[in-house]
Amino acid sequence: MTKAYASLKQAARLKPLEIERRAVGPNDVQIHIDYCGVCHSDIHMVNNDWGISEYPMVPGHEIVGHVVSVGSDVTKFQEGQRVGVGYFVDSCRTCEPCKAHMEQYCENGFKMTHGSETDDPGGLTFGGYSDAIIVDEGYVLNVPENLDMANAAPLLCAGITAYSPLRNWDVKRGDIVGVIGLGGLGHMGVKMAHAMGAHVVMITTSQGKAVDAKSLGADDVLISTDQAAMAAWAGKFDFLLNTIPVAHDIVPYMSLLKLDATMCLVGIVDELESVHTAPLLFGRRSVAGSLIGGTKEAQEMLDFCGEHNITADIELIKMNEINDAHKRMEKGDVKYRFVIDLKTI
Ligand code: ZN
Ligand code: ZN
Repeated sequence: MTKAYASLKQAARLKPLEIERRAVGPNDVQIHIDYCGVCHSDIHMVNNDWGISEYPMVPGHEIVGHVVSVGSDVTKFQEGQRVGVGYFVDSCRTCEPCKAHMEQYCENGFKMTHGSETDDPGGLTFGGYSDAIIVDEGYVLNVPENLDMANAAPLLCAGITAYSPLRNWDVKRGDIVGVIGLGGLGHMGVKMAHAMGAHVVMITTSQGKAVDAKSLGADDVLISTDQAAMAAWAGKFDFLLNTIPVAHDIVPYMSLLKLDATMCLVGIVDELESVHTAPLLFGRRSVAGSLIGGTKEAQEMLDFCGEHNITADIELIKMNEINDAHKRMEKGDVKYRFVIDLKTI
């Protein structure tokens, strides 16, 4: 049996639960989980905010650990290797996005790491709030040797969610990139855009975050409630990464973009306030969205982080502190990611 922490019904506190993982198949990698990052979507899944949750819910999709054993046909991994697993553990493998290793856009729906139906024991996938997981090798990633394992865990969701749009919109040396919102996603965005050579501007409502943002790699801080400062930066940005996790008015940010530039939303799955189209037409600007990242890009991201020594700033917690951690996250009270030490389960 595998030790886990689960929510047994909608919005219920997480508590210990023994689960059964499937036997190791020919293409499977058996992973001992060392650390698991705590993502805001874990809370959405526990609370069934998106109407797709099934219980028991064992959240957790920022998984790092080491390989315990591999199936007979596994070629990419061996015992003892440091590995990671992100938001999904399978997909149809035949549609165009899957064939391009953009499984997050699988036309037939990817299989989430937690709460998706499966033929495994229990009938549901169970995530990383547990001490072991078995995953097909095609959905397992290699974690560079030089990265601290606990700090690397959030790369598997927060990291790739920030990295994928920065790459897709071709952020490069000299670009002026704004990162809106300084949380788990935002702090990864600042570090990554800085490592790509961009001039990074942290855009926040909070003057108190200015010092932190600069220590993470931001070159400038723009306080979004300061109308004069917003006007001074109008039309200057090549790209905006918007990580705000709640409904908000995007119009003031649109005016910051240059001609043809894009603001990409990554933090919110919800309705936005109504949008006046003037800043879109004047300046041919775009608003886009982006969802996590595929296996190929996630491996590229991990290698990039290895090269540039990028990991998350974290608060390490014990497994039994998870309910308090979720409460603190709902108040935005974490710098910048909780990570569970699974030794404590
Ligand atoms: Zn996540
Ligand atoms: Zn597919």
